Amino acid sequence: MEFNLNQRSNAGAWGSFSFREKIQMESIWAENWSRNSYWLEGIAKSPSPQGAALPPSSTDVLIVGSGYTGLNAALETARAGRSTLVVDATDPGWGCSTRNGGQISTSIKPSLEKLSLKYGHAKALAIRNEGKNALDWIEDRVKAEKIDCHFQRCGRFHAAHSAQTFETLAREAEQLSKVENIPSDIIPKDKQHSELGTDFYHGGVVFSHHASLNPARYHHGLMQSAEKAGVTICGNCPVTRIERTSSGFMVETSKGQISARDVIVATNGYTSGVSSWLKRRIIPIGSYIIATEPLPQDLMDKLFPRNRVISDTRKVVYYFRPSPDRTRILFGGRVSADETDTSVSGPRLYDDMCRIFPELRGHKITHSWAGTVAYSFDELPHIGINDGVYYAMGYCGTGVSLSSYLGMRLGQKVLGKKEGATAFDDLSFPTRPLYTGKPWFLPPMVAWYRWRDRAQSKRSA
Ligand SMILES: Cc1cc2nc3c(=O)[nH]c(=O)nc-3n(C[C@H](O)[C@H](O)[C@H](O)COP(=O)(O)OP(=O)(O)OC[C@H]3O[C@@H](n4cnc5c(N)ncnc54)[C@H](O)[C@@H]3O)c2cc1C
Repeated sequence: MEFNLNQRSNAGAWGSFSFREKIQMESIWAENWSRNSYWLEGIAKSPSPQGAALPPSSTDVLIVGSGYTGLNAALETARAGRSTLVVDATDPGWGCSTRNGGQISTSIKPSLEKLSLKYGHAKALAIRNEGKNALDWIEDRVKAEKIDCHFQRCGRFHAAHSAQTFETLAREAEQLSKVENIPSDIIPKDKQHSELGTDFYHGGVVFSHHASLNPARYHHGLMQSAEKAGVTICGNCPVTRIERTSSGFMVETSKGQISARDVIVATNGYTSGVSSWLKRRIIPIGSYIIATEPLPQDLMDKLFPRNRVISDTRKVVYYFRPSPDRTRILFGGRVSADETDTSVSGPRLYDDMCRIFPELRGHKITHSWAGTVAYSFDELPHIGINDGVYYAMGYCGTGVSLSSYLGMRLGQKVLGKKEGATAFDDLSFPTRPLYTGKPWFLPPMVAWYRWRDRAQSKRSA
């Protein structure tokens, strides 16, 4: 069975549950619970007056995808005087950029050690530094554009799911401080309640420079800045073909053909056959989140005494945080081997959340949604140009700052500016033989990792 991760109706996939399970599940849903992202509450559907307009027939720069990558690239090119058009297959911002957890880290998944083996120490350090650059840069962007999106350097508590992983985490944190100058505090299990009100974890590490924001407000602010800069944003305008011509490109869309001097593909987890070269390099993976109903303030204070964002060391990670107004918990993760419907992922996430915080049983879910992130085979983001078409994607689930920063760099590349250079530029973008963009290997992999995570936790219980 295939599910659309972005469904907006409440017609659920109930067939796979027993009658008892259905009754239990019914009791956890708030009346009129929503499949839309919690972050969209109070945000106008499309802030763009041009959202439904016809696109122009020619433009200097055409950008496919209106998330953080596309809009940050657009701001660069438009402000340099290039006519810039951003098109999106659905509503502007429909992709991950209004659905994510709003957690911002230094975002590079492979360790310095692993990267050094492949690229040498200096290059590895340069790649890892780009993660720090992206984090600092997004703060500057938010301030410069005066975007009211609750950006704060709240810090992260990265929690160990077993005693053994705590030891490894603590060792790694010391190395990060020494070699990469990344500040961290090791929190043993007996001090854990100062960071997080649970005994579920085995201690963890605080990265006090990590940050959080409201992703949809950030996206909304970018849209407004882009429009002020003269960018045309056209929603409900899927690109179906990109063809090279003698003067640039002819781009076919559902709203007609558009000629463009430069084209940027900024479609990340939603990359389709418009570029089969990119599709063969991206592994689309669903990620799922729930939002609780407003909770008593003393409970929030007990569970999140420092207001940090939280992630854990499981391979199939949980990520969670208080809402910016500290009334709710937003709890995310991957709860099934296969992609699933949000009426199914909701109760599973709820169950996992209540295992960490038993006090939450009885409180209801108001939102349950999902989106598709983009992994790459080497777990690194990629930016560059293929057959004349610019791209940046493959943020591996940590793209709030990276997609923004690399989007901006991509805009600079289109302008031919030397500042557009990044440490990712000369990395090859790997694929695998026979891979066409459908990750058949994912369900068994996720099932195995979930089993291993659980076994490690049990051994420490
Ligand atoms: C549930 C979830 C939680 C996450 N949590 C975090 C987090 O806490 N921290 C973090 O750093 N990252 C997180 N991420 C990842 C982060 O949201 C993404 O990396 C980031 O938003 C990517 O931005 P983007 O602009 O590249 O892509 P997107 O925002 O996904 O935009 C791509 C756009 O391309 C459009 N498109 C696709 N094909 C076409 C076409 N043919 N024609 C026109 N338009 C097209 C789509 O409609 C879409 O709007 C999360 C993602 C999800 C789904």
